Amino acid sequence: MEHLERLVNPRVKDIQISGIRKISNLVATYKDAITLTIGQPDFPTPEHILRSAEQAIADHRTTYTPNPGILELRQAASAFIEKKYGLTYGAANEVIITTGASQALDITLRTILDEGSEVILPGPIYPGYEPLVRLCGGVPVYVDTRANGFKLTAELLEPHITGKTRCIILCYPSNPTGRVLSETELSEMARLLAQRDIFVISDEIYSELIYDAPHRSIAALPGMRDKTIVINGLSKSHSMTGWRIGFTLAPAYLSQHMVKVHQYNVTCASSISQYAAVEALTSGMDDAQPMKEEYRKRRDYVYDRLIGMGFELDRPEGAFYLFPSIERFGLSSMDFTMKLLEEQRVAVVPGDAFSIYGEGYVRISYAYSMEVLEQGMERLEKFVKQQGS
Ligand code: PMP
Repeated sequence: MEHLERLVNPRVKDIQISGIRKISNLVATYKDAITLTIGQPDFPTPEHILRSAEQAIADHRTTYTPNPGILELRQAASAFIEKKYGLTYGAANEVIITTGASQALDITLRTILDEGSEVILPGPIYPGYEPLVRLCGGVPVYVDTRANGFKLTAELLEPHITGKTRCIILCYPSNPTGRVLSETELSEMARLLAQRDIFVISDEIYSELIYDAPHRSIAALPGMRDKTIVINGLSKSHSMTGWRIGFTLAPAYLSQHMVKVHQYNVTCASSISQYAAVEALTSGMDDAQPMKEEYRKRRDYVYDRLIGMGFELDRPEGAFYLFPSIERFGLSSMDFTMKLLEEQRVAVVPGDAFSIYGEGYVRISYAYSMEVLEQGMERLEKFVKQQGS
Protein backbone atom coordinates (compact mmCIF):
# COMPACT_ATOMS: atom_id res chain seq x y z
CA MET A 1 0.00 0.00 0.00
CA GLU A 2 3.01 2.28 0.39
CA HIS A 3 2.89 3.41 -3.21
CA LEU A 4 -0.70 4.49 -2.63
CA GLU A 5 -0.09 6.13 0.75
CA ARG A 6 2.48 8.23 -1.08
CA LEU A 7 -0.46 9.92 -2.75
CA VAL A 8 -1.95 11.16 0.51
CA ASN A 9 -1.89 14.94 0.85
CA PRO A 10 1.54 15.73 2.38
CA ARG A 11 0.03 18.37 4.64
CA VAL A 12 -2.20 15.70 6.18
CA LYS A 13 0.67 13.21 6.41
CA ASP A 14 2.73 15.77 8.31
CA ILE A 15 0.08 16.28 10.99
CA GLN A 16 0.84 14.45 14.22
CA ILE A 17 -1.66 12.85 16.59
CA SER A 18 -2.13 15.30 19.47
CA GLY A 19 0.22 14.81 22.44
CA ILE A 20 -2.82 14.84 24.75
CA ARG A 21 -4.43 11.98 22.85
CA LYS A 22 -1.17 10.01 22.85
CA ILE A 23 -0.81 10.26 26.61
CA SER A 24 -4.52 9.44 27.16
CA ASN A 25 -4.13 6.29 25.04
CA LEU A 26 -1.05 5.28 26.98
CA VAL A 27 -2.70 5.93 30.35
CA ALA A 28 -5.62 3.70 29.40
CA THR A 29 -3.19 0.77 29.57
CA TYR A 30 -2.38 1.54 33.24
CA LYS A 31 -5.49 0.31 35.01
CA ASP A 32 -4.54 1.68 38.45
CA ALA A 33 -3.54 5.17 37.31
CA ILE A 34 -5.05 8.39 38.67
CA THR A 35 -5.68 10.31 35.50
CA LEU A 36 -5.49 14.10 35.55
CA THR A 37 -5.24 14.58 31.81
CA ILE A 38 -8.71 15.23 30.58
CA GLY A 39 -10.00 18.50 29.15
CA GLN A 40 -13.70 18.09 29.64
CA PRO A 41 -16.09 18.80 32.52
CA ASP A 42 -16.80 15.85 34.82
CA PHE A 43 -20.38 17.00 35.50
CA PRO A 44 -23.37 15.52 33.71
CA THR A 45 -25.26 17.71 31.24
CA PRO A 46 -28.03 19.43 33.29
CA GLU A 47 -31.33 17.49 33.37
CA HIS A 48 -33.49 20.20 31.81
CA ILE A 49 -31.24 20.16 28.74
CA LEU A 50 -31.49 16.38 28.46
CA ARG A 51 -35.30 16.66 28.62
CA SER A 52 -35.40 19.25 25.84
CA ALA A 53 -33.37 16.95 23.56
CA GLU A 54 -35.84 14.13 24.27
CA GLN A 55 -38.66 16.50 23.38
CA ALA A 56 -36.93 17.47 20.12
CA ILE A 57 -36.74 13.79 19.19
CA ALA A 58 -40.37 13.19 20.20
CA ASP A 59 -41.40 16.15 18.03
CA HIS A 60 -39.44 14.75 15.06
CA ARG A 61 -37.20 17.81 14.91
CA THR A 62 -34.64 15.61 13.25
CA THR A 63 -34.19 17.16 9.83
CA TYR A 64 -31.51 19.46 8.44
CA THR A 65 -31.69 22.95 9.84
CA PRO A 66 -30.74 26.17 8.03
CA ASN A 67 -26.96 26.14 7.39
CA PRO A 68 -26.04 28.70 10.06
CA GLY A 69 -28.34 26.98 12.59
CA ILE A 70 -31.93 27.47 13.75
CA LEU A 71 -32.70 31.16 14.13
CA GLU A 72 -33.94 30.59 17.68
CA LEU A 73 -30.50 29.35 18.70
CA ARG A 74 -28.64 32.09 16.87
CA GLN A 75 -30.86 34.60 18.69
CA ALA A 76 -30.19 32.84 21.99
CA ALA A 77 -26.42 32.84 21.42
CA SER A 78 -26.46 36.48 20.41
CA ALA A 79 -28.57 37.49 23.45
CA PHE A 80 -26.37 35.42 25.82
CA ILE A 81 -23.20 37.10 24.60
CA GLU A 82 -24.76 40.56 24.62
CA LYS A 83 -25.98 40.21 28.18
CA LYS A 84 -22.71 38.78 29.45
CA TYR A 85 -20.09 40.69 27.51
CA GLY A 86 -21.81 43.66 25.92
CA LEU A 87 -21.14 42.39 22.39
CA THR A 88 -23.86 42.88 19.79
CA TYR A 89 -24.13 40.48 16.87
CA GLY A 90 -27.07 40.15 14.47
CA ALA A 91 -28.65 36.71 14.82
CA ALA A 92 -29.60 36.69 11.13
CA ASN A 93 -26.20 37.38 9.63
CA GLU A 94 -23.43 37.40 12.22
CA VAL A 95 -23.86 34.14 14.15
CA ILE A 96 -23.10 30.61 12.88
CA ILE A 97 -23.89 27.52 14.93
CA THR A 98 -21.11 24.97 14.48
CA THR A 99 -20.21 21.40 15.40
CA GLY A 100 -18.38 22.43 18.56
CA ALA A 101 -15.79 25.17 18.86
CA SER A 102 -13.47 22.85 16.90
CA GLN A 103 -15.43 23.23 13.70
CA ALA A 104 -15.87 26.94 14.38
CA LEU A 105 -12.08 27.23 14.35
CA ASP A 106 -11.82 25.23 11.17
CA ILE A 107 -14.29 27.31 9.16
CA THR A 108 -12.78 30.52 10.47
CA LEU A 109 -9.23 29.58 9.50
CA ARG A 110 -10.30 28.24 6.13
CA THR A 111 -12.13 31.48 5.44
CA ILE A 112 -9.27 33.81 6.24
CA LEU A 113 -6.04 31.92 5.52
CA ASP A 114 -4.21 31.65 2.27
CA GLU A 115 -1.01 29.87 1.23
CA GLY A 116 1.82 31.30 3.36
CA SER A 117 -0.41 33.32 5.72
CA GLU A 118 1.24 33.66 9.10
CA VAL A 119 -0.78 32.93 12.21
CA ILE A 120 0.54 34.14 15.54
CA LEU A 121 0.06 31.69 18.40
CA PRO A 122 1.03 32.67 21.94
CA GLY A 123 2.67 29.54 23.34
CA PRO A 124 2.15 27.36 25.27
CA ILE A 125 -1.24 26.95 23.61
CA TYR A 126 -4.05 24.49 22.87
CA PRO A 127 -2.71 22.04 20.27
CA GLY A 128 -5.88 22.11 18.16
CA TYR A 129 -4.89 25.24 16.24
CA GLU A 130 -1.59 24.44 14.52
CA PRO A 131 -2.80 21.45 12.44
CA LEU A 132 -5.77 23.46 11.16
CA VAL A 133 -3.46 26.33 10.24
CA ARG A 134 -1.14 23.94 8.39
CA LEU A 135 -3.99 22.28 6.51
CA CYS A 136 -4.80 25.71 5.11
CA GLY A 137 -1.19 26.21 3.99
CA GLY A 138 -0.70 28.72 6.79
CA VAL A 139 2.47 29.14 8.83
CA PRO A 140 2.28 29.08 12.63
CA VAL A 141 4.44 31.69 14.35
CA TYR A 142 4.80 31.04 18.07
CA VAL A 143 5.38 33.75 20.64
CA ASP A 144 7.05 32.75 23.90
CA THR A 145 4.86 33.98 26.76
CA ARG A 146 6.64 32.13 29.60
CA ALA A 147 8.37 35.20 30.97
CA ASN A 148 5.03 36.94 31.46
CA GLY A 149 3.21 34.12 33.27
CA PHE A 150 1.91 32.76 29.91
CA LYS A 151 0.09 35.99 29.11
CA LEU A 152 0.57 37.62 25.73
CA THR A 153 1.21 41.36 25.75
CA ALA A 154 1.40 43.96 22.99
CA GLU A 155 5.12 44.19 23.66
CA LEU A 156 5.68 40.45 23.17
CA LEU A 157 3.40 40.38 20.15
CA GLU A 158 4.63 43.36 18.13
CA PRO A 159 8.02 42.01 16.96
CA HIS A 160 6.30 38.93 15.47
CA ILE A 161 3.98 40.90 13.21
CA THR A 162 5.12 40.88 9.58
CA GLY A 163 3.58 41.77 6.24
CA LYS A 164 2.36 38.17 6.03
CA THR A 165 0.58 38.07 9.39
CA ARG A 166 -3.04 37.26 8.68
CA CYS A 167 -4.30 36.56 12.15
CA ILE A 168 -3.55 36.00 15.78
CA ILE A 169 -5.27 33.45 17.95
CA LEU A 170 -6.04 34.34 21.53
CA CYS A 171 -7.19 31.67 23.94
CA TYR A 172 -8.07 33.20 27.30
CA PRO A 173 -8.95 31.75 29.78
CA SER A 174 -6.14 29.59 28.51
CA ASN A 175 -5.85 25.93 27.83
CA PRO A 176 -3.30 24.77 29.10
CA THR A 177 -2.35 27.47 31.63
CA GLY A 178 -5.67 28.73 33.02
CA ARG A 179 -4.36 32.29 32.75
CA VAL A 180 -6.47 35.28 31.75
CA LEU A 181 -5.32 38.67 30.41
CA SER A 182 -5.73 41.67 32.68
CA GLU A 183 -7.82 44.63 31.55
CA THR A 184 -4.64 46.62 30.84
CA GLU A 185 -2.99 43.79 28.90
CA LEU A 186 -6.13 43.36 26.82
CA SER A 187 -6.51 47.07 26.04
CA GLU A 188 -2.86 47.51 25.13
CA MET A 189 -3.14 44.59 22.75
CA ALA A 190 -6.33 46.02 21.28
CA ARG A 191 -4.62 49.39 20.82
CA LEU A 192 -1.86 47.73 18.81
CA LEU A 193 -4.14 45.48 16.77
CA ALA A 194 -6.77 48.13 16.05
CA GLN A 195 -4.25 49.89 13.80
CA ARG A 196 -3.31 46.77 11.82
CA ASP A 197 -5.08 44.81 9.12
CA ILE A 198 -4.88 41.57 11.07
CA PHE A 199 -7.71 39.31 12.13
CA VAL A 200 -8.07 38.17 15.71
CA ILE A 201 -9.58 34.79 16.49
CA SER A 202 -10.66 34.94 20.09
CA ASP A 203 -11.32 31.43 21.40
CA GLU A 204 -13.49 32.10 24.44
CA ILE A 205 -14.68 28.54 25.05
CA TYR A 206 -13.72 28.85 28.74
CA SER A 207 -15.39 32.27 29.20
CA GLU A 208 -17.89 30.91 31.74
CA LEU A 209 -15.20 29.20 33.79
CA ILE A 210 -13.39 32.16 35.26
CA TYR A 211 -13.20 32.48 39.00
CA ASP A 212 -12.08 35.84 40.24
CA ALA A 213 -13.24 38.48 37.76
CA PRO A 214 -15.75 38.72 34.91
CA HIS A 215 -14.60 37.57 31.47
CA ARG A 216 -13.78 40.30 28.96
CA SER A 217 -13.76 39.83 25.22
CA ILE A 218 -11.24 41.68 23.07
CA ALA A 219 -14.04 42.17 20.52
CA ALA A 220 -15.67 44.68 22.89
CA LEU A 221 -12.66 47.02 22.80
CA PRO A 222 -12.41 50.04 20.48
CA GLY A 223 -11.60 49.19 16.87
CA MET A 224 -11.71 45.42 17.40
CA ARG A 225 -15.20 44.26 16.47
CA ASP A 226 -14.65 44.49 12.71
CA LYS A 227 -11.55 42.30 12.77
CA THR A 228 -12.39 39.80 15.49
CA ILE A 229 -14.03 36.40 15.20
CA VAL A 230 -15.27 35.27 18.60
CA ILE A 231 -15.48 31.54 19.12
CA ASN A 232 -17.52 30.05 21.91
CA GLY A 233 -19.82 27.13 22.59
CA LEU A 234 -21.58 25.01 25.16
CA SER A 235 -19.00 22.23 25.62
CA LYS A 236 -17.44 23.62 28.78
CA SER A 237 -20.06 26.06 30.10
CA HIS A 238 -22.93 23.55 30.07
CA SER A 239 -20.96 20.33 30.23
CA MET A 240 -22.05 19.41 26.73
CA THR A 241 -18.85 18.24 25.01
CA GLY A 242 -20.53 15.35 23.21
CA TRP A 243 -23.43 17.40 21.88
CA ARG A 244 -21.04 19.26 19.59
CA ILE A 245 -22.45 22.78 19.72
CA GLY A 246 -20.25 25.81 19.23
CA PHE A 247 -20.73 29.15 17.53
CA THR A 248 -18.92 31.95 15.77
CA LEU A 249 -19.69 35.64 16.19
CA ALA A 250 -18.21 37.67 13.39
CA PRO A 251 -19.09 40.81 11.41
CA ALA A 252 -21.48 40.17 8.52
CA TYR A 253 -18.83 40.70 5.81
CA LEU A 254 -16.89 37.73 7.25
CA SER A 255 -19.81 35.55 8.38
CA GLN A 256 -21.22 35.52 4.84
CA HIS A 257 -18.03 33.77 3.66
CA MET A 258 -17.63 31.53 6.71
CA VAL A 259 -21.13 30.17 6.25
CA LYS A 260 -20.21 28.93 2.76
CA VAL A 261 -17.34 26.85 4.14
CA HIS A 262 -19.67 25.62 6.89
CA GLN A 263 -22.36 24.67 4.40
CA TYR A 264 -20.08 22.49 2.30
CA ASN A 265 -18.34 21.14 5.37
CA VAL A 266 -21.20 19.90 7.59
CA THR A 267 -24.44 21.43 6.21
CA CYS A 268 -25.50 22.23 9.77
CA ALA A 269 -24.89 21.21 13.38
CA SER A 270 -27.04 18.38 14.78
CA SER A 271 -30.68 19.50 14.94
CA ILE A 272 -31.38 17.73 18.24
CA SER A 273 -28.34 19.28 19.88
CA GLN A 274 -29.37 22.69 18.59
CA TYR A 275 -32.78 22.45 20.27
CA ALA A 276 -31.13 21.31 23.49
CA ALA A 277 -28.76 24.29 23.21
CA VAL A 278 -31.72 26.70 22.94
CA GLU A 279 -32.91 25.36 26.29
CA ALA A 280 -29.39 25.71 27.75
CA LEU A 281 -29.15 29.36 26.75
CA THR A 282 -32.71 30.53 27.36
CA SER A 283 -33.89 28.63 30.46
CA GLY A 284 -32.71 31.39 32.77
CA MET A 285 -30.88 28.77 34.85
CA ASP A 286 -27.24 29.55 35.40
CA ASP A 287 -25.94 26.05 34.77
CA ALA A 288 -22.29 27.09 34.88
CA GLN A 289 -22.56 28.60 38.38
CA PRO A 290 -22.61 25.44 40.56
CA MET A 291 -19.88 23.85 38.42
CA LYS A 292 -17.84 27.02 38.69
CA GLU A 293 -18.08 27.01 42.49
CA GLU A 294 -16.85 23.43 42.56
CA TYR A 295 -14.01 24.14 40.11
CA ARG A 296 -12.93 27.11 42.18
CA LYS A 297 -12.62 24.89 45.29
CA ARG A 298 -10.66 22.31 43.35
CA ARG A 299 -8.38 24.91 41.82
CA ASP A 300 -7.56 26.32 45.24
CA TYR A 301 -7.00 22.86 46.67
CA VAL A 302 -4.65 21.66 43.90
CA TYR A 303 -2.88 25.02 43.72
CA ASP A 304 -2.20 25.03 47.47
CA ARG A 305 -0.98 21.44 47.39
CA LEU A 306 1.39 22.18 44.49
CA ILE A 307 2.79 25.25 46.21
CA GLY A 308 3.21 23.13 49.36
CA MET A 309 5.28 20.67 47.33
CA GLY A 310 7.50 23.50 46.11
CA PHE A 311 6.16 23.83 42.57
CA GLU A 312 6.34 27.25 40.99
CA LEU A 313 3.21 28.70 39.43
CA ASP A 314 0.81 31.63 39.52
CA ARG A 315 -2.75 30.91 40.63
CA PRO A 316 -4.66 30.41 37.37
CA GLU A 317 -7.78 32.56 36.96
CA GLY A 318 -9.88 30.28 34.76
CA ALA A 319 -10.53 27.07 32.79
CA PHE A 320 -9.71 23.88 34.74
CA TYR A 321 -5.98 23.50 34.33
CA LEU A 322 -2.80 24.23 36.23
CA PHE A 323 0.55 24.39 34.49
CA PRO A 324 3.38 24.05 37.01
CA SER A 325 7.06 24.22 36.14
CA ILE A 326 8.93 20.93 36.52
CA GLU A 327 12.28 22.42 35.62
CA ARG A 328 13.89 21.68 39.01
CA PHE A 329 13.57 17.92 38.39
CA GLY A 330 16.03 18.12 35.50
CA LEU A 331 13.77 16.04 33.26
CA SER A 332 12.03 16.85 30.02
CA SER A 333 8.27 17.19 30.38
CA MET A 334 7.81 13.81 28.65
CA ASP A 335 10.36 12.06 30.88
CA PHE A 336 8.79 13.61 33.99
CA THR A 337 5.34 12.46 32.85
CA MET A 338 6.53 8.91 32.14
CA LYS A 339 8.42 8.63 35.41
CA LEU A 340 5.44 9.89 37.41
CA LEU A 341 3.17 7.44 35.62
CA GLU A 342 5.50 4.47 36.11
CA GLU A 343 6.46 5.19 39.71
CA GLN A 344 3.28 6.62 41.21
CA ARG A 345 0.60 5.92 38.61
CA VAL A 346 -0.43 9.54 38.14
CA ALA A 347 -1.08 10.77 34.62
CA VAL A 348 -0.57 14.40 33.59
CA VAL A 349 0.02 15.91 30.14
CA PRO A 350 3.62 16.84 29.22
CA GLY A 351 3.90 20.54 28.49
CA ASP A 352 5.52 20.01 25.11
CA ALA A 353 2.10 18.90 23.82
CA PHE A 354 1.32 22.65 23.87
CA SER A 355 4.22 23.76 21.62
CA ILE A 356 7.92 24.05 22.40
CA TYR A 357 7.11 26.82 24.86
CA GLY A 358 5.35 24.28 27.06
CA GLU A 359 8.57 22.32 27.57
CA GLY A 360 9.56 22.38 31.25
CA TYR A 361 5.95 22.24 32.44
CA VAL A 362 3.10 19.74 32.80
CA ARG A 363 -0.65 20.28 32.57
CA ILE A 364 -2.80 19.08 35.45
CA SER A 365 -6.55 19.09 34.90
CA TYR A 366 -8.88 19.52 37.88
CA ALA A 367 -11.99 18.41 36.04
CA TYR A 368 -12.10 15.51 38.51
CA SER A 369 -13.78 14.88 41.86
CA MET A 370 -12.07 16.09 45.02
CA GLU A 371 -11.48 12.47 45.97
CA VAL A 372 -9.53 11.79 42.78
CA LEU A 373 -7.63 15.05 43.14
CA GLU A 374 -6.69 14.25 46.74
CA GLN A 375 -5.35 10.83 45.75
CA GLY A 376 -3.51 12.35 42.81
CA MET A 377 -1.87 14.99 45.02
CA GLU A 378 -0.88 12.40 47.65
CA ARG A 379 0.86 10.34 45.00
CA LEU A 380 2.48 13.37 43.41
CA GLU A 381 3.80 14.44 46.80
CA LYS A 382 5.37 11.01 47.33
CA PHE A 383 6.94 11.26 43.89
CA VAL A 384 8.38 14.70 44.59
CA LYS A 385 9.88 13.52 47.89
CA GLN A 386 11.47 10.51 46.18
CA GLN A 387 13.10 12.75 43.61
CA GLY A 388 14.75 14.60 46.48
CA SER A 389 14.08 18.03 45.05
N1 PMP B 1 -10.67 25.49 22.18
C1 PMP B 1 -10.05 25.11 23.32
C2 PMP B 1 -9.10 26.05 23.94
C3 PMP B 1 -10.33 23.87 23.90
O1 PMP B 1 -9.72 23.52 25.04
C4 PMP B 1 -11.25 23.00 23.27
C5 PMP B 1 -11.58 21.63 23.81
N2 PMP B 1 -10.69 21.02 24.63
C6 PMP B 1 -11.85 23.42 22.08
C7 PMP B 1 -11.54 24.67 21.57
C8 PMP B 1 -12.82 22.56 21.34
O2 PMP B 1 -14.08 22.59 21.94
P1 PMP B 1 -15.33 21.82 21.35
O3 PMP B 1 -15.51 20.59 22.18
O4 PMP B 1 -16.49 22.75 21.56
O5 PMP B 1 -15.08 21.52 19.94
